[in-house]
Amino acid sequence: MNPIRVGLLGLGTVGRGTFEVLRRNQDVIRRRAGRGIEIAMIGVRDVARARAQVGTAVPVTDRLQDVVRHPDIDIVVELIGGHEPARALVLDAIEHDKHVVTANKALLAVHGNEIFDAARRMGVMVAFEAAVGGGIPIIKALREGLTGNRIEWIAGIINGTSNFILSRMRDTGDSFAAALRQAQELGYAEADPRFDIDGTDAAHKLSILAAIAFGVPIRFDAAHVEGIAALAAEDIRYAEQMGYRIKLLGITRLTPAGIELRVHPALVPMQRLLANVEGAMNAVVVKGDAVGTTLYYGPGAGSEPTASAVIADLVDVTRMHTADPDDRVPHLAFQADALVQLPWLAIDRTVTSYYFRMRVADRTGVLADIARILADCRISIDAMFQREAADGQDQADVIMLTHDALEHDVDTALGRIERLDTVLAPVIRLRQESLA
Ligand code: NAP
Repeated sequence: MNPIRVGLLGLGTVGRGTFEVLRRNQDVIRRRAGRGIEIAMIGVRDVARARAQVGTAVPVTDRLQDVVRHPDIDIVVELIGGHEPARALVLDAIEHDKHVVTANKALLAVHGNEIFDAARRMGVMVAFEAAVGGGIPIIKALREGLTGNRIEWIAGIINGTSNFILSRMRDTGDSFAAALRQAQELGYAEADPRFDIDGTDAAHKLSILAAIAFGVPIRFDAAHVEGIAALAAEDIRYAEQMGYRIKLLGITRLTPAGIELRVHPALVPMQRLLANVEGAMNAVVVKGDAVGTTLYYGPGAGSEPTASAVIADLVDVTRMHTADPDDRVPHLAFQADALVQLPWLAIDRTVTSYYFRMRVADRTGVLADIARILADCRISIDAMFQREAADGQDQADVIMLTHDALEHDVDTALGRIERLDTVLAPVIRLRQESLA
């Protein structure tokens, strides 16, 4: 049988990896897919540079529209990134009856519903394994392997750059700024790492996972997002002393009141596998009612790990290419007409436990005042210790862990505590996730 013909848009980190792995492993890939997978055309901005990388065997153009409309192309692989022109090109490809494979989580988090609608109308597939967790086959696992389950929650470390920075801060005692510089020097962080450290990238991925888990449309705008830039090395140290690691987690949970969708730093008990995911690695825990807790771990980024996921999609599309569209796995795991609208839970209605660090005057009665306010606000203390402040005389740091509390009550309590004249600075507050 003739090979299936691929138009590749973008020849950056992932594009080059995809080109190289497809070439190197063409024999096993053909034996698995049932036919060859051939890159027939490449679309980029800088044609000369791309030619220098791939030689003359594959036509290269800077007219990307020609690739997505070419009558001989069966599958368009979008590896450009960002919203435009990626969105327009993907929609154009779909209108021209091409299947699409993309690694672009920013695109799907914001325009995924529109793209999947267009694909359904045209009877083509849009595959996106590489968009979440890089090389980890988490989309496949969630959409197919766990399809018999009611998914209860997902928690993941789904941004390698921020995890690298947090690991570094813990290992070396470095500040956030110093750890970020190190990540950039080692090539783990982009020159502009904003989306990695402010939680946006993790929220893009989490909103895709939530849609697949709960059978709802993708709603990135419903996510509560906090990054790691404000984390202090001393909180990482105090957490460690109490048996926790601080991780940037993406958490989505189905509760009777609605779906939680949140990305923020959180204390994770050290004995949890997730707490031991270090450096640039990613891991996702999925809790299903039948299977229990499952863990998916691996490289969340990188040229060939991400190419591994792109090619898995290419093989899937190649195998299912002639199938009746109704017989294919739905984009978001649930049949399109079975997606439902569920409420999204505002962050102040989240119930979880907390870590507080309070800089207080070292005087009698301070703790009694704080404890009274917490009790008034229905917050009970699980553990507490006090340290002399390193940089202030007659001052102390009080570190507390609480039992589960409603975030709204925590906001109220901390507002009152910060108005005490014995509390000398804004209270540092981090959520704690037991992941039990
Ligand atoms: P990259 O290295 O920046 O490569 C992007 C490629 O797209 C480059 O060849 C670039 O060409 C081309 N491009 C950008 N804008 C273009 C435009 N307007 N017209 C034509 N070509 C354009 O990006 P990447 O790291 O490979 O990421 C690609 C996608 O994979 C993104 O959606 C990213 O989020 C996703 N992803 C990446 C990783 C990873 O480890 N890198 C992991 C998972 C998912 P020029 O070089 O000429 O600008």
